Amino acid sequence: MPKAIPYGRQDISQADIDAVVEILKADYLTQGPKVKEFENKFAKYIGAKYAVAVANGTAALHLCTLALGVNETSKVITPPITFAASSNCVRYCGGEVVFSDIAANTITLDIEKVRMLLENAPKETYQGIIPVDFAGYPVNLEAFRQLADEYGLWIIEDACHAPGGFFTDSKGVKQNCGNGQFADLAIFSFHPVKHIACGEGGMITTNRKDLYDELLTLRTHGITKDPKKLQENHGGWYMEMQILGYNYRIPDILCALGSSQLDRAVKKLEIRRKIAKKYDKAFEGTKIKTIIPPNEVGHAYHLYVIQIENRKELYDYLRTQKIYAQIHYIPTHLMPYYKQFGYKKGDFPTAEAYYEKCISLPMYPTLTEEEQEFVIEQVLKISDV
Ligand SMILES: *Cc1c(COP(=O)(O)O)cnc(C)c1O
Repeated sequence: MPKAIPYGRQDISQADIDAVVEILKADYLTQGPKVKEFENKFAKYIGAKYAVAVANGTAALHLCTLALGVNETSKVITPPITFAASSNCVRYCGGEVVFSDIAANTITLDIEKVRMLLENAPKETYQGIIPVDFAGYPVNLEAFRQLADEYGLWIIEDACHAPGGFFTDSKGVKQNCGNGQFADLAIFSFHPVKHIACGEGGMITTNRKDLYDELLTLRTHGITKDPKKLQENHGGWYMEMQILGYNYRIPDILCALGSSQLDRAVKKLEIRRKIAKKYDKAFEGTKIKTIIPPNEVGHAYHLYVIQIENRKELYDYLRTQKIYAQIHYIPTHLMPYYKQFGYKKGDFPTAEAYYEKCISLPMYPTLTEEEQEFVIEQVLKISDV
């Protein structure tokens, strides 16, 4: 029997290892030159003006909600099909999470349902929207920006699944996920199953200088040494803690790894897209439902999700073949923590129907052709084609 095949895994090269070892021998283990290097390289890759590297994607989300002033009076709209962190960041600041259903053809936030929510509420009920580029499918943020502007809302794009993804705007311009053209802030994760692995790591991108400055301060305890901002100045050592911040820093060691990983990001994304094409082709004309994006959308394929009637049977069978497919995601509104706010089964029919059938097949750059063919063969064996 072949070796175990997970649904996702990191790809570490000798260059990555060398980059980390170099930092272990250098002067800084925590915030050193590699943090800035990684931030600059990442901002360039995504096409955003500013980037702030942080401890993980969840910390990135928390800093975003803090910087945008989420508090006990805030109501923020998020989809129910995503990792729980996408909505938890609102709760960290005491705000209310308002889930809104997904669209069946993209598994991302359904803009028409969001529009209905906004139209049916008194003005200024909502403060923001957190759309998620689910599985790597880029949300059309131009449309969301127009809607958000009508109601004075901010947008945090959860782009954890989508570095390198893009959609084409109404002028025909390619807009990269997280490039800050339409969203106020965007966030990424460098958890090992994501495109770029740091072990733990996250990034916030933005084109807004005001938010960028705020994020830098919040990342390190709310402390500033900027002479222009100080209320007093006692000398060279002097600094002030002006707001309540956190220690959400990411070490130089991990940024060296992230920066080295980024050098191969384009190549690895090409491989993901090639793997997706092969799956698409294999399942064409069967009862297996796949999400095939139109040409003007550049899917980033963090996940390759299929929808199938006998999902549990397939999941269990694949495990007997050491194929560790996964389910993304159990709807967040059905988590016991969120049920306490009154959410229940039946609230979001599209998300719930999707959850009943979804399963993520192995998708990572080192998945070999033989392994993928084996996966396809096993899936077709069990699916009711
Ligand atoms: C992974 C992920 C996060 C959180 O990232 P961490 O680095 O694990 O904290 C947030 N949102 C989505 C959609 C994710 O996939």
